[in-house]
Amino acid sequence: NQIQQADVVIIGAGPSGAVAASLLVNKGWRVVVLEQQVFPRFSIGESLLPQCMHFLAEANLAESVKEQADTLGFQFKNGAAFQRRGEHTAIDFTEKFTQGPGTTFQVKRADFDKCLADGAMEQGAEIRYQHSVIEYTDHGDGALLTVDDEKNQRYQIKGRFVLDASGFGRVLPRLLDLETPSNFPVRWAYFSHFEDNITDDKFDREKILINVHPKHNDIWYWLIPFSDGTASIGVVGKPSQFEDTAPLACLNEFIEQDTYLSELLARRVAIGEARTIKGYSANVASLYGEHFALLGNAGEFLDPVFSSGVTIALKSASLVAPLVDDYLQGKQVDFQAQYSEPLQQGVNCFRTYVAAWYDTSFQDVIFYSEQNQQVREMISAILAGYAWDLDNPFVKQSERRLNTLVELCRD
Ligand code: FAD
Repeated sequence: NQIQQADVVIIGAGPSGAVAASLLVNKGWRVVVLEQQVFPRFSIGESLLPQCMHFLAEANLAESVKEQADTLGFQFKNGAAFQRRGEHTAIDFTEKFTQGPGTTFQVKRADFDKCLADGAMEQGAEIRYQHSVIEYTDHGDGALLTVDDEKNQRYQIKGRFVLDASGFGRVLPRLLDLETPSNFPVRWAYFSHFEDNITDDKFDREKILINVHPKHNDIWYWLIPFSDGTASIGVVGKPSQFEDTAPLACLNEFIEQDTYLSELLARRVAIGEARTIKGYSANVASLYGEHFALLGNAGEFLDPVFSSGVTIALKSASLVAPLVDDYLQGKQVDFQAQYSEPLQQGVNCFRTYVAAWYDTSFQDVIFYSEQNQQVREMISAILAGYAWDLDNPFVKQSERRLNTLVELCRD
């Protein structure tokens, strides 16, 4: 069989794959995306951050998301609300330190991902659904991928450069033995979609609700409303904190443990069975090699608490695409200095906040009612996804600044 050729082969048509594909076809390269599933397909990761809208606009994908928002039940989102033992607070993303979009959407990922993939295809990317990548080898001036197609026929395709956007599939980390453990402990998530039937007028559908468990501060729930009366509800905790029951029963049991949630969601009706993800945090030894780079979740995944996953995935696509363009033109590219380090800078900022969420110090900052407005806006910018803005002191020296703030709020 003849080896097929492309300038760039992308593994996975999720958000990072679709954005990278769009950016690279617009630079004039032949891009083939290999996607193991058929779209629309379920994916978790439904609450976007406003910074995503900037990356989608760069890839000419923001307009179609906005145009289809109403029909697809995407919920306009302008912030995050928090509840802990009856205390309520909220962060408005439009009041933020960093310039850029201050609003976004909460999306059913099946439709959102299809919308992005269709947009990439319209701009010229070739997407092959039900094509699974099973092998990678360096091959002269590029990389050779072995692929099983929808009829289980095996073929090979050579890309001058390969982008692994396979998310939790983690194709190249597995094949090239790049997996390293995350520095976060193993956590599990149980989640489902519900007709929420929320009647409380004080409930703000335009914000994700992050709800702390009434007894265990390191257990939290998300409530992500969509615009069609449904919502995604999930709970996250350590393995020992879950009972060995069916996922939906377990999720419902957790909801009942919290007075606010159980009242708010008293009339909820589950849509289908609940799902679980066990041990989602992951890391890699390197984000790039001679002929490849890892995007989004195929690289590092921290934790869902601040909904940073899709933002990091899109940032990785936005950072890598111009470098791949240079590389294909024969220019010198330093993926360590130009890709890995700049990407890590924002990821590390999120890491500081995630760690401080679980040790509860950042929870005390969030629920502190006398927060100075300027500080609030700096924190708001990070939670809105602007974790790469080095003009923000809470980004530039995230750990030091946060520690000082924690002391102030705890005094
Ligand atoms: P994905 O979206 O995972 O896409 C990867 C694609 O690659 C898939 O379509 C898959 O079919 C394909 N693929 C896999 N293997 C192969 C193969 N061998 N060959 C070909 N194709 C392949 N993020 C947020 O921004 N907001 C949230 O609210 C949020 N909530 C979350 C809750 C939980 C419990 C978890 C675990 C994560 C959450 N995330 C959230 C993170 C989010 O799910 C991911 O960060 C995001 O989907 C990553 O996008 P991606 O493009 O890297 O990969």
